Amino acid sequence: MIDAEKLTEEFGCLVFNDKVMRDRLPKDIYKAVHKTIERGTHLELDVANCVAATMKEWAVENGATHFTHWFQPMTGLTAEKHDSFISPTEDGKIIMEFSGKELVKGEPDASSFPSGGLRATFEARGYTAWDPSSPAFIKDGSLYIPTAFCSYGGEALDKKTPLLRSMEALSKEAVKMLKLLGYEDVNRVNTTIGSEQEYFLIDKKFYKKRKDLLFTGRTLLGAPATKGQEMEDHYFGVIKPKVSAYMHDLDEELWKLGIPAKTKHNEVAPSQHELAPVFETANIAVDHNQLTMEVMKKVADKHNFACLLHEKPFEGINGSGKHNNWSVCTDTGMNLLDPGKNPGENVPFLVFLMAVIAAVDEYAPLLRLSVASAGNDHRLGGNEAPPAIISIFVGDELSEVLKGVEEGNAYHSKGKVQMGMGAEVLPHFTKDNTDRNRTSPFAFTGNKFEFRMPGSAVSVANANIVLNTAVAEEIAKIYAQLEGVSKDDFSAKLAEVLKETLIAHKRVLFNGNGYTDEWVAEAEKRGLPNLKSLPDAMPYFIKKESVDLFTKHNIFTKEEIDSRYEILLENYAKSIHIESLTLQEMAKKDLMEGLISYQSDLLKEAAGKKSLLGEKSAEFEIETLKAIDEAQGKMNEALKKLAVDTAAAEEKSEVLDQAAFYQKTVLNDMEEVRKYADAAEALVPDKYLSYPTYGQMLFSLR
Ligand code: ADP
Ligand code: MG
Repeated sequence: MIDAEKLTEEFGCLVFNDKVMRDRLPKDIYKAVHKTIERGTHLELDVANCVAATMKEWAVENGATHFTHWFQPMTGLTAEKHDSFISPTEDGKIIMEFSGKELVKGEPDASSFPSGGLRATFEARGYTAWDPSSPAFIKDGSLYIPTAFCSYGGEALDKKTPLLRSMEALSKEAVKMLKLLGYEDVNRVNTTIGSEQEYFLIDKKFYKKRKDLLFTGRTLLGAPATKGQEMEDHYFGVIKPKVSAYMHDLDEELWKLGIPAKTKHNEVAPSQHELAPVFETANIAVDHNQLTMEVMKKVADKHNFACLLHEKPFEGINGSGKHNNWSVCTDTGMNLLDPGKNPGENVPFLVFLMAVIAAVDEYAPLLRLSVASAGNDHRLGGNEAPPAIISIFVGDELSEVLKGVEEGNAYHSKGKVQMGMGAEVLPHFTKDNTDRNRTSPFAFTGNKFEFRMPGSAVSVANANIVLNTAVAEEIAKIYAQLEGVSKDDFSAKLAEVLKETLIAHKRVLFNGNGYTDEWVAEAEKRGLPNLKSLPDAMPYFIKKESVDLFTKHNIFTKEEIDSRYEILLENYAKSIHIESLTLQEMAKKDLMEGLISYQSDLLKEAAGKKSLLGEKSAEFEIETLKAIDEAQGKMNEALKKLAVDTAAAEEKSEVLDQAAFYQKTVLNDMEEVRKYADAAEALVPDKYLSYPTYGQMLFSLR
């Protein structure tokens, strides 16, 4: 039986959360910390000292001996360096110490993290700075302190810093706007995120035998199994006992860390699953998602599984994404994307909805870019995940509301701003008949937007940085048109501004099937960008409009943009480079070995049969031999070209040029190799292969 009390007690038991602080910190210190968390104010050193001492005491009681500043460098992973609390005393003993200074600031040697030229090599130091808005926690005997990571000169070298800045920017513009609309009591607006995480589980013993999975996270060759996902028998299907035991353990580990894991189910592809948490404030949600990915892998290992987080681990079946559910909520508890009973009269809702529509249309290339990676580019446009074209699904009810806006039904000014959009007759907004259109990359889902393009393996920080910033900008634009307008004219002006905004950006609205060729053609007619890969999208990042946007809202400096541009392109090129080398090795050694030894057996068999049974025998052996030989020969040719092109790619000195070459040439070469490799593999019995097949990996879990 489940002990509900124990469960409630265990949730967050490893987190230095608000309750622990309230219980343990002196009242005035607790208040000071709270102020810092809520308003982002500076924390005095004496307060930090007191918090540090309390944190240490709590951490030691809970089994921690070390602490680490935990940060999110541009590798997309997390980083940590552990120090013990131990400090030797004169009498040869030790005491456990942790100071406010150690809590607030760290100075890791940062020279080996990607910096895109921001950090001169002579200045190897980087700084980590405590983010008090994301709670510290205990993991593997260490106290983890969430921190931002920057260079000696103060430039951000991580994903958390710009995320926090973007939340700040959105809050600032939103609060100004809301005050103008008469919501005087709002002082802060929070971005909320719930990111649904997809993943694959396969048997660990298989994982260890595949160099491609070990080195690159995805299979680079492998003939399809005779069964795929065509029976549609996995989605929401019965969870197998071993997987269920894993999910149970995973939930428990996550709950202890205060991560509100809520939903779990099987996904569309065989061996694919999903976990969804309850939404949280953006930066905490991002931290929690990073932790979730880590814990998923760790718990998988304990259960003799490997957890694959790559966006496209297997060819021919669905890949994995991370649906980013996004909304904005005021400190007075108002969800700005909640249409309420009367969306047509809900002014804040309409303003924010219009700002989102404008932001997604105007900054579509940046949104596309925010989810671009070597892994995710295989998924976007692959007829499963959303296409690479960004459009917004609003559903039928909201379309009606927007029609009201466009047709300009008059506002009724009754003291406080109110508007009649002719939409009053609409039924109460029901969540259920919002979006069941799984093809849309950006869908309104009742009281939030769901951005479905982010990849499963990477931080969702980037997507939210762009989204927050772009929406902040559009709100600022709407504000600028309304500022100073007299009370009498306000409603009419607001209606006009919303209408104009909608007309200017409605091309991005699309409720149909995003997978069809008709949509691709239609989108082109509408002038919507279709950026298929990271190198296609990347030039938009350094365009003047983007630099203006990010610098205006203090998200990135020009230097930070340039450095990120370099890092992203370099990472992309490196990923494909490693994939190319791994594929070459697997094809030339592992697969070739299997082909040769099977052919040698066939040859012996054929020769034996012929001498015994005559020339006409051994038909199967000879046909198979010929087929393998043909595929093997073509694969060998393709491998030569791949080797030459990979070497050429490595020689390229300009980053964009290099990344584009990897994308256009090397990836194509790899597909060519794979085509023949898979044809050959399909002819060979499993026992000749030193690595497991698709069938074994995807269908052997019980
Ligand atoms: P579905 O399964 O149809 O996608 P759910 O209601 O299960 O929709 O929600 C999916 C995710 O959206 C969950 O992680 C949930 O916490 C999150 N979510 C719900 N409301 C909000 C909100 N206001 N802001 C951000 N995320 C939200
Ligand atoms: Mg969803």
